[in-house]
Amino acid sequence: MPPYRGRFAPTPSGALHFGSLIAALASFLDARQADGQWLLRIEDIDPPRCPPGAADTILRQLEAFGLHWDGPIHWQSDRNEAYAAALENLTSQSLAYPCSCSRKQWRDFPIYPGWCRHGVREPEKPWAWRLRSDKGLRPIMWQDRLFGIQRFDPAELGDVVLKRKDGLWAYQLAVVVDDADQGITDVVRGFDLLDNTPWQRQLQHALGLPEPRYLHLPLIMSRDGQKLSKQNLAPALPVREKEVRPLLHRALAALDQAPPDSLASAPATEQLEWAITHWEVGRIRPEATRQAAAADMAA
Ligand code: GLU
Repeated sequence: MPPYRGRFAPTPSGALHFGSLIAALASFLDARQADGQWLLRIEDIDPPRCPPGAADTILRQLEAFGLHWDGPIHWQSDRNEAYAAALENLTSQSLAYPCSCSRKQWRDFPIYPGWCRHGVREPEKPWAWRLRSDKGLRPIMWQDRLFGIQRFDPAELGDVVLKRKDGLWAYQLAVVVDDADQGITDVVRGFDLLDNTPWQRQLQHALGLPEPRYLHLPLIMSRDGQKLSKQNLAPALPVREKEVRPLLHRALAALDQAPPDSLASAPATEQLEWAITHWEVGRIRPEATRQAAAADMAA
């Protein structure tokens, strides 16, 4: 087996919040316990969604929590050629096709019905590129380390967008190319991405790339039952040590690692040392969502 390589891959659409801390922390602990590498990838493929300064804020927040990454930062905005080569590869296998259809045109269907598979319908309009999900149909299956066997019917997935009409690369393509190029063996991330994994497995298969292991984590909800997200204005993680310590402790508790109370006031490095030694995925309760007291904590 190749040596463990994990990653944290935030989209710099805003500062990190408690939900992102859970993903960063779990992927960090899993990598460090395995004596592996923990890489940082900034998923800045969608510039209109990424305000200036957000990536820097993320770096400062990770450092404040003692989550130090290995090697250079991988920026998706530098990766145009790699994504173009992957699209070219799929096109040459007739697995990708241009599509002029708008969401409005197929709104009465549960998934895109594949109208442009045999030729773009309105060639004078802008095109997106889609993956053909109806070729080489095989059931999509993997063993999530927390949620167990996952099975998806490829016919229900639809032809995912690889490149958008505005010319921007889609997350599904970029994430698969980068996970492979960075040699990622283990993906640890939130439950909200579990239903994206089937497309990523499909793409890995189509591009002949290795399939990493997956561990999806329960999503942390705020007290009013909303997912913590930048859109829902979840408070930004603090960078002041006084606030970092108790919050890190709460994140460990939210991951069911049962950190001793005495650790709550310890420096981040000390808490992380304890957590690396004691990290146990088997302790995490496999719930899709959960409420955590810290979720509402303001910065
Ligand atoms: N960039 C994605 C996000 O911030 C995460 C991608 C991933 O972990 O695969 O939600």
